[in-house]
Amino acid sequence: MYIGGFQKNSLIDFPGTIACVVFTRGCNFICPYCHNPDLVAGTAGPDGDGSAGSDTPDQEDILNFLDKRKGIIEGLVVTGGEPTLQADLTDFIKTVRQMGYKIKLDTNGTAPRILDVLFDQGLVDYVAMDIKTDIDHYPMVMKNPKQLDRVIESISLIIKKSPAYEFRTTCARPFVTPDIMENIGKMIRGAASYVLQPCSRNVDMLDPDFAAVEDHFLSVDDMEALKAAVLPFVENTRIR
Ligand code: SF4
Repeated sequence: MYIGGFQKNSLIDFPGTIACVVFTRGCNFICPYCHNPDLVAGTAGPDGDGSAGSDTPDQEDILNFLDKRKGIIEGLVVTGGEPTLQADLTDFIKTVRQMGYKIKLDTNGTAPRILDVLFDQGLVDYVAMDIKTDIDHYPMVMKNPKQLDRVIESISLIIKKSPAYEFRTTCARPFVTPDIMENIGKMIRGAASYVLQPCSRNVDMLDPDFAAVEDHFLSVDDMEALKAAVLPFVENTRIR
């Protein structure tokens, strides 16, 4: 695993669970509003651009930490970047699982085969999948738009097999409008849970110019309009 960060304690990242959070490096998307630009800029493989910094623990450090916190911390969130780009993700999760931890995985949905293995082996308790926009606009955030079929496949797989899950959208124009939200609703129709998050403006972003355009950011009323557009398709839609 190529690790870009580790948070020892979180009460908000894994619903109902006191968890640590591990951030993996590298992403196959280029969302301009991405709040983790350093992770996205790093590569997910051995040809990376050097270490994430001497303060960042490596995989062994994290496993040792988790081993000592058994019974105190309940779960581990694996996020990124895009965690499914890590070649040894399944082995890492298996090792943490064997220590008795619950696992939450955050993903952009481009690796349905990996999700399927995790579900079949009972290795995840909760999946949070980002829905970036509707099908027509997805290529705007993808390095490889040919992977769009995988995103669609992951949506059905998660609805069918994930023990618990949420779909979630960071809301910013032009990626979401009420019309786009209606299309998203059709994409994830019948999902158990959908969360809309307004995009924060005053943070580091992958594309710093994105933050300079006021129209990209949504008001409370805008967020309510998005929610209203998707509610006919996903009853449990909420704004976080
Ligand atoms: S927001 Fe998520 S999917 Fe998009 S570039 Fe950042 S880490 Fe990748």
